[in-house]
Amino acid sequence: MIVQAPDGKFPVRGMLRQELVEVLAGLGETEDRVRRLQTHVFKHRMDSFIGMEDISARSKDRMARVLDLDLPAVDARAMAEDGTRKYRVKFRDGSLIECISMAYNGRRTLCLSTQAGCRMGCTFCATGAMGFARNLTAAEIVDQALVMLRDQPADRFNVVLMGMGEPLNNPEQLARALTILVSPWGMDRGPRTVTVSTIGLLPALDELAALRLGVNLSLSVTAAREDLRQMLMPATRAWPLAQVFESIRRYPPEAFRSYIYSYVMFAGVNDQLTHARELAAALDGLPGYVNLIPMNPTPASQYLPSSDETVSAFRNELFRLGRAAHPRYSKGRTIWAACGQLAGAALPMDTTTGAADGDAEAEVGASDS
Ligand code: SAH
Ligand code: SF4
Repeated sequence: MIVQAPDGKFPVRGMLRQELVEVLAGLGETEDRVRRLQTHVFKHRMDSFIGMEDISARSKDRMARVLDLDLPAVDARAMAEDGTRKYRVKFRDGSLIECISMAYNGRRTLCLSTQAGCRMGCTFCATGAMGFARNLTAAEIVDQALVMLRDQPADRFNVVLMGMGEPLNNPEQLARALTILVSPWGMDRGPRTVTVSTIGLLPALDELAALRLGVNLSLSVTAAREDLRQMLMPATRAWPLAQVFESIRRYPPEAFRSYIYSYVMFAGVNDQLTHARELAAALDGLPGYVNLIPMNPTPASQYLPSSDETVSAFRNELFRLGRAAHPRYSKGRTIWAACGQLAGAALPMDTTTGAADGDAEAEVGASDS
């Protein structure tokens, strides 16, 4: 469904090519005009008709009456010395979300939010602690990438749907946003450069797989034992890991390009060798590798991050059992921009430069096409 602006206008960045063609056909505009418009919006990153020199003034006038090209406002921005930038974006209704631009080995990774807040209530996550405000529209998801690219231009970049919210709790707008991100007429990112992170909501995950977009899937596992996982991530009670894995086993190769199992590590809670063995056993026969992420501090959380030695021992145990695993250290911790630290207005935001986080490893396995 296209979510129209309050004034009834159609959001260009939330529409598929054919939808735009149909809307504009009623105004007598041709498909070629639509092609030019989408090139300006997605490739030239324009947010107004001014400057679209290959479209006549009369056409622009007509289109301006029905189309919305505005980008949301950046409410605040914070920069860390490791190159991470966090943007607090304010939508027209006043909703605040955060999105992050990170530099990994010279390549930018844009981390987008799919909801204002989150209703999944994971006990270690700042977004979960703030509760749920609303779903974002596809245009609002794509707009975040444009806002960051206008601030820091980049031709080649990866996209991770790993900001605020549970993407599969907003499946329809997620699928629309992903289609716009990967389509040649849209943001034109190769599917392998796009990663969706989820706690594994069924049947929404099955429905996403059925679209065969070929993006990467990052499944937030964080504990292989169901009772421990449900304690840490209460919403997973409805969708046990065993069922999610059963689904993944059935997906055709075109469903997702690669599978990443993310495992946030809490000292003394889920970081012992027995947990590594449980994880290796649960993943038996499944494709993909594990990302080990020592938890990032959040104001409400009672947990502490696992030590480097513990992470390393855990990884070695997984290796011994035949499962590749990589420790990942989140970027942007000094500006509260790391995984699990996004809380909209609930955390302080200034524009000062924090101290550097000393690593340069990608958090996810996405690579460019
Ligand atoms: N809701 C989705 C995507 C957003 S959260 C999901 O949970 O997958 C993105 C990632 O941040 C998830 O893998 C989640 O487990 C992780 N995360 C949440 N809180 C964290 C914290 N305090 N420290 C480290 N990672 C955290
Ligand atoms: Fe929501 Fe993901 Fe945070 Fe859980 S970890 S509360 S699903 S954003």
